[in-house]
Amino acid sequence: MSESFLLPNWLLYQSKTNANHKALLYGNEVITYRQLYHNVVALASILAKKGVGPHDRIAILSKPSLNFIYAVHAAMQISAIVVPLNTRLSREEVAYQLNTIKPRVLLVDSSNLGKVANMALCDSADIVLMDEMVLNSSPDHSFSSRDYFKSSDPLAIIHTSGTTGKPKGIVLTYGNFWWNAVGSALNIGATPQDIWLACMPLFHVGGMSIIIRSVIYGSSILLHEGFDPESVNYDIEKHDVTLLSVVSTMLRRMIDSRNGVRYESRLRCVLLGGGPIQPDLVLEALNMGLPVAPTYGMTETTSQIATMPPSEVRSRPSSSGRPIMPAVLKVFDENRGYLGPNQEGEIVVEAPMLFSGYWDPKAGILPRESGEFRTGDYGYIDDNGFLYVIDRRDDLIVSGGENISPVEVESVLMSHPEIDDACVTAVADQEWGQIPVASVKLKVGSNLTEEEVRSYCKSRLASYKAPKRVIFVESVPRNAAGKLLRSQVSEMHKRVMSEK
Ligand code: ATP
Ligand code: MG
Repeated sequence: MSESFLLPNWLLYQSKTNANHKALLYGNEVITYRQLYHNVVALASILAKKGVGPHDRIAILSKPSLNFIYAVHAAMQISAIVVPLNTRLSREEVAYQLNTIKPRVLLVDSSNLGKVANMALCDSADIVLMDEMVLNSSPDHSFSSRDYFKSSDPLAIIHTSGTTGKPKGIVLTYGNFWWNAVGSALNIGATPQDIWLACMPLFHVGGMSIIIRSVIYGSSILLHEGFDPESVNYDIEKHDVTLLSVVSTMLRRMIDSRNGVRYESRLRCVLLGGGPIQPDLVLEALNMGLPVAPTYGMTETTSQIATMPPSEVRSRPSSSGRPIMPAVLKVFDENRGYLGPNQEGEIVVEAPMLFSGYWDPKAGILPRESGEFRTGDYGYIDDNGFLYVIDRRDDLIVSGGENISPVEVESVLMSHPEIDDACVTAVADQEWGQIPVASVKLKVGSNLTEEEVRSYCKSRLASYKAPKRVIFVESVPRNAAGKLLRSQVSEMHKRVMSEK
C-alpha cells in the first residue's frame, strides 16, 4: 500500500476559497459552500457532543437528502467512519449489518424509521431521526474542524451489492476517494462549473463518490431524492447538468420516456456502470445525443477504475474503456500467468483507489493484502488497451471445452421483444461437462414457446451457446441493486434438470 500523505480538509478549503459557489441544488433549495460548511459543522458538533469520536461508525439509513450529504461530511470533520446502509434491504438484513458495524450513532430518516423500530442494537447505539435535526443554529464555536485528512485513514465502509453472497463491508480511505476524484478528473475533466446530477442511491459507492468528488473539485451537485426518468430528462436540459452517473436500467428508462426526442443539452459525459454493458443500448443513447461513457468498477475500487472516453465509444460500444490514471489493469490466468492482448482471463487491478480492507465484526478493519487485487471478473484487454469485461469468472459455463458467458446469452434473450427478463446458468451434463440452461420471464401476452426461444438464440449465437433448456418463470430473482441472483436460479435449474 502506498505511503500515507496529508490532504487538506477539502470542505473547509472550499468554504474559504469558493464560499459563494453553489455546492448543492435540491428542489428549490440552493446551498453554497459557505452554508454547506456551516451545516456540516453544526451536525459534526451535535455528533461530537454525543461522544462520537475517531473511528467510531456513523450509520445512515436514509433516502438521498441534504441531511445525508451533511452527515457524510460531518463524519469526516470528527474522524468518524460513515456507513451508508442500503435502504432496499429487508429489516433482517439491516439488523445484520448494524450488528456487524456496531455504529455509535444511527442516523435515520422518517421514511426508514419503521425498519429499525424496536430493533435491539448492540452497544446501545443512539438512533437519531434526521428529519428533526436542527442545523440552522449558529455554529458551536467550541468545535473546530480538522485542517487535514490523513490519506490512510478510513473514511467510509460501503457494502458491496451482495450479488455473490452476503454484502461485504469494504473500508475506503480518504486516499481512495482522493485518487478516484483525481483519476476521474484526468479522464473526463473537472471544473467548478460542473453540475453532477446525483440520482443514484447514495449508499452505493457510485453515489458516495459523487458526494466527495464534487467537494474536492468545488463543483455542484444537483440532488434527486430518487430516480424518476422524466425529472432526470427535464433537469438535464433545464438545469444545465454537465455530468450524470447511471446504470443500464436507468438509461433505458430515460431513453424510453423521451419518446424519440433527442437530447439538446450541456451534458458532456454520462457515466454508465454498475454491471454488464449492453452495446445496443450504448449506441442508442449516443444516437439520442447522450455522450455515454461505459465504465468498469466495483466497491473495492472506489467506483470506476476503467472508463470509455465518450469520443471513442462509437467504435467500441461493448468495451468498458481504458484504466483511469493511475490505475493499472492486467489479465491473469492461474496456469498461464499474465496474459497478453486479446487473451481472456481474470482481471486484476493495481491502483491507489483499491480499498484498504474489509470490515470484520470481531476484528474491525482487516487490512487487505498489499499489491494487486484479483477482481473475480473475467475479460480481456485489446491491442489498444481497451478493456472488455465478459462475466464473473465463477459464472462462466464451460461446455465441451468452450467458454460460454451467461451475460452474453442473457443479452441475446433480452433483445427479443417478447422477453422481459432472463437468467442463464450452468447445469452439469455427462456429455458436455456443463450446458447452459435459461430461465425466461415473458412479457404479458406473449405465447413464445421453448423451441422459438432456442431458435432465436441460435440465429444470433454460436449454437453451443444457445440454452439447451428454457424454463418459463413468473419472475427472475434480483437483489436490492437489481443484479441477478444467479445462485438461486442455478439451484432451481439443477433441480428441474435432475427431474426430467
Ligand atoms: P458482491 O461483491 O457482494 O458479490 P457485487 O460485486 O455485485 O456484489 P459491486 O461492487 O456493487 O458488488 O459491483 C461490482 C461488480 O459489478 C463487478 O465486480 C462486476 O462483476 C460488475 N460490473 C461492474 N462494471 C461492469 C462492466 N462494465 N461490465 C461487466 N460487469 C461489470
Ligand atoms: Mg463484488
